[in-house]
Amino acid sequence: MTDPTVLLIWADGLSSRYLNELDTPLLSKFAVGSRQATLQSMFGYLSVGGAVFCGLQPGRSRLLWEFGRREAPASVGSALRAVLSVVDHVPNDRARFLLRLGILRSLGTEYLGLANAIPHDLLWYFQPRLSSQLEHRPRVGEGVNTIFDWLVGAGMAYEYSRPPPADEGSAAASLISRIRKGQLPNLFVYHPVSLDVTGHKSGPRGAATKRAIARFDRTTGRILSAIEHSPAKILCITMSDHGMQPIENLFDSQSRIRRLPLRIGKDYLYFMDSTMIRFWFETASAEDIIRSDFSGPGRFLTQRDLEAAAIGKPDRFYGDLFFAIEQGWAVYPDFFRRTHRPRGMHGYYRQTYDTPVAIVGGSPGLSPRFTVPEGNHTDICRTMADFLGLKAPFEMDGKPIVEYS
Ligand SMILES: [Zn+2]
Repeated sequence: MTDPTVLLIWADGLSSRYLNELDTPLLSKFAVGSRQATLQSMFGYLSVGGAVFCGLQPGRSRLLWEFGRREAPASVGSALRAVLSVVDHVPNDRARFLLRLGILRSLGTEYLGLANAIPHDLLWYFQPRLSSQLEHRPRVGEGVNTIFDWLVGAGMAYEYSRPPPADEGSAAASLISRIRKGQLPNLFVYHPVSLDVTGHKSGPRGAATKRAIARFDRTTGRILSAIEHSPAKILCITMSDHGMQPIENLFDSQSRIRRLPLRIGKDYLYFMDSTMIRFWFETASAEDIIRSDFSGPGRFLTQRDLEAAAIGKPDRFYGDLFFAIEQGWAVYPDFFRRTHRPRGMHGYYRQTYDTPVAIVGGSPGLSPRFTVPEGNHTDICRTMADFLGLKAPFEMDGKPIVEYS
């Protein structure tokens, strides 16, 4: 039996709006008083992972978006380019992704990331920020590593469970049985994704999402009950990465961008995330043209906006100019979805529709509670590290926000 233990339930897409007695009756019983806190919404797809697992704001972890610009475009032959330009027309996001992956792998070409709807003429310019998920301990950056590295360095163990939505029930059952037997490693991260998947597909108020919320409430309620009867010393933090906002409007920005009198790769590059469009300029006139001729429901972020989101001055890897879309809109098609329009989205600059939430629980005698009503994701990292007696090789941005009896 290992002791002490942290169980982090990373509830992907658990909106603060779901946390009420009607939608989540079991969870609401645990989320009373100072056992619940809200978390600040973060801007940037990788920012939450960097905050929770490195304890750093994105300006220091340099973890912002999933894709960025390669130093030099990948070199590919004209035959492969031609084949992939045909694959571009496959009218199904998943099928196109699988086809691309199969073709690139069979040719021994380095795979260029998961975004399955990057147009073929842009594919070669981009690469994922990380070589793998953070729990596999990829290289993050100069002097920056993760809590998983700190655990291994201290001779401690961790596990990460991110089951496909259909397997969440059995993954939770196995987790509960291990909690009862006191058989968890020092850090166990349980990361169900079904709330995020259904939230995007059917919207936060959609029938499928309602069912996913009810399922999540039942399984998490059981896990939290099991913790309260566990023989081990367990701190359990249930935490969401972001909320989920209904999409009322779609912004088809690609046709507007492509009409600009600019050449891809020569004058500029662009990348369409779901809530923002990033631009890179090769010439000063490209910047002028985009700033004056490109418009839509949103605005270009200023350096001050980026500072306010704890981003600071982003590396050129992420872009030279950032167009953030208004809440309630989605960039569609974007470089991730071309055939299935989203009905829910998150990741807006300063999302105000909802917030991420955190609920703390523990094994008998621990009685954990939050010391503040609002924290942020770097605080979660610091709280976990302190509980486990781990030290980061750098100063973390977060502070401990849980006290115990
Ligand atoms: Zn999502």
